[in-house]
Amino acid sequence: MLGRGYRVIPSRRRGGLGGRLMIFVVMAVIAIAGYYLGTARVPNDITGEVQRVSLTPQQEIAMGLQAVPTMEQEYGGELNDPNAQAFVDEVGNAIVRNSPAGNTEYQFEFGLLADPQTINAFALPGGPVYMTAALYKELETEGQLAGVLAHEVGHVVARHAAEQIAKSQLVQGISGAAAVAAYDPSSPGSVEAARVAQMVGQLVTLKYGREDELESDRLAVRFMADAGYDPRALISVMEILAASGNGQAPPEFFSSHPNPQNRIEQIQAAIDAEFPNGVPGGLVQ
Ligand SMILES: [Zn+2]
Repeated sequence: MLGRGYRVIPSRRRGGLGGRLMIFVVMAVIAIAGYYLGTARVPNDITGEVQRVSLTPQQEIAMGLQAVPTMEQEYGGELNDPNAQAFVDEVGNAIVRNSPAGNTEYQFEFGLLADPQTINAFALPGGPVYMTAALYKELETEGQLAGVLAHEVGHVVARHAAEQIAKSQLVQGISGAAAVAAYDPSSPGSVEAARVAQMVGQLVTLKYGREDELESDRLAVRFMADAGYDPRALISVMEILAASGNGQAPPEFFSSHPNPQNRIEQIQAAIDAEFPNGVPGGLVQ
């Protein structure tokens, strides 16, 4: 009995290890297949790119709205300054109304958050755009405010969050891909809704890649000009923020840009491409 057991147990262990490895391989294959099968190659009318996403715009809007309370809490809640908020609304809505962003189904909202220290702005999928009070007070002109808001609108219409979510499904496996693919915003409380709630938590700390930031800068240049703002104001935003570091930690706005100078050169290149004969006069600085 003992001898037989001795022989059986190690062989089971070897089988177990092989079995676990096989399960891992199968799951990895399913995860990779899930990324390619659970996502679709969708052309983006505004950027002109074909991108891999799993969410519909309606699902992006629903997820963004779910993340609103968490995001507001993270940065001190809404700023109690009706005049500043009205100004941000006016400039943000002008950007949307006068640019291709206004032809999308995304529902843009522009919020000022009370955080007095963290210099940052961000966009949730589907349209909510936020700026902290710390960033707002650094800005000197209406055109600079337009630059920051247009950059964030760029993230929304370029669907950068949806692309990041599709990539995270590759990491997290088929369960995430299946949940999001099956997610129906009108039935909260479902298994899919619970899985999506977990992703909402990740949205709050989502960082876009360098290419996404540069693409949003290029879109901002277009959208600013569409709305009558001088796109060179986006360069002065970068200069102000680069100087505001002053030996301290750089603003969070630059967290994915170790080299603001390089970003300024890219914005200048986008302006030169948009206006080969020079930026027209009379635009709001
Ligand atoms: Zn950005």
